[in-house]
Amino acid sequence: MSRREPAHGLPGPVGRPGARAAPRLAVDLNLTTHRAYKKRCLLELLAGRPLSRHDLALATNLSDSTVAILVDELIEEGLVTEIGPGPSRGGRRPILLDLCPDGAFLVGLEFAATACYGLVRDLKGRVVARLERRWPTPRGPDTVLTHLAEAVEELLAADPVLRARTLGVGVGVPGLVDWEAGIGRYYPHIPDWREVPVASILQARLGLPVFVEQNIRAVALAELRWGAGRGHQTLVCLGGRNGLGAAVVVGGELVRGVGAAAGEIGHITAEPGGPPCSCGRRGCLEAYVGPGAWQAELRARHLPEAAGPAALWAAAEAGEAQAVAFCRGVVGRLAAAVSHVVGLLNPSLVILAGYLAAAGPGLARELEAALRDLALPGPAQQVRVVQGQLGEAAGALGAADVVWRRLAPEYRTLSGGVSWR
Ligand SMILES: [Zn+2]
Repeated sequence: MSRREPAHGLPGPVGRPGARAAPRLAVDLNLTTHRAYKKRCLLELLAGRPLSRHDLALATNLSDSTVAILVDELIEEGLVTEIGPGPSRGGRRPILLDLCPDGAFLVGLEFAATACYGLVRDLKGRVVARLERRWPTPRGPDTVLTHLAEAVEELLAADPVLRARTLGVGVGVPGLVDWEAGIGRYYPHIPDWREVPVASILQARLGLPVFVEQNIRAVALAELRWGAGRGHQTLVCLGGRNGLGAAVVVGGELVRGVGAAAGEIGHITAEPGGPPCSCGRRGCLEAYVGPGAWQAELRARHLPEAAGPAALWAAAEAGEAQAVAFCRGVVGRLAAAVSHVVGLLNPSLVILAGYLAAAGPGLARELEAALRDLALPGPAQQVRVVQGQLGEAAGALGAADVVWRRLAPEYRTLSGGVSWR
């Protein structure tokens, strides 16, 4: 199996709204003899929607009898169930198959400098357990990894069946991430966070497969499948917890760049020689509009930092001059940067996540309006700016999905109008 990111995972259907044509695989499953691979392909197809055995045979180019044998095995393994007859296509009504929700579970974690969020979801995407852990000040890699391992143990402790049927753990890691090697490469908001082998350390502690993804990309994967990004193919997801990053999706696929550092929009230069940034340089966009800038403004106004961006935005909407000036500044700086992204990528959507979503819908509205003035008229009219729909859980939800994507076989659907991106 290639190490490239598999094309899609559980569950669907997402893709083009209303498209119901039979799915097709771009690979001919007769060309592989690997039984587990074939079964995973069938599971992927069923993640889209219930299908009959004959639908599965058509989608995979396997014979009806081969599909029947594989489906029997999947039913016996508790991963697939018969849900009753589907609509007739001229003959006998076919029995439809669906994923068995509690046939397997996926754990998703996401963390930043002082908190981690975790959840367990079933095969149908339902969250069956979740938790949040906070610690008062940023701690080094050992402490963070201990928190993560304990979070997983706590999530799975509720029910022995959960642990037995958990396929793996996905972790949304902040900063620069080597997603293939499972390494957190650099994150300035956690002391000594350099070249941390997150996946191998957690795998050894937990005895489960562990996969990592950069956390804003995990958010984007979740929003793409279940949230604001449904039905979109080219979008940018913007935000973060301690910093400002972006996930870029083009043609339904994450764009990573040669060093997996694509989307580091927080560290483009907004003002040469401007204020110092967490990355050690000066004048980065993050220094003006990142979480640190919002927190500094809250402190300056004697508001608790826990009040978050929503408090400042509310003050601006109430007409408080200083808050108005700050929020206008944020919108202006963000719009200038995002207008370049709109010019480069012509996306249909910009999703605000993390602290930017926490500011409330007003920020998305103002940013969209500002883009109308700054970007080329065509692309400016085509892009919408929205808040993410999945809130705090988005990163962990996307991280859990990464487990499925990495475990599942790499294949694409052919035309037929079905896509699980
Ligand atoms: Zn910077």
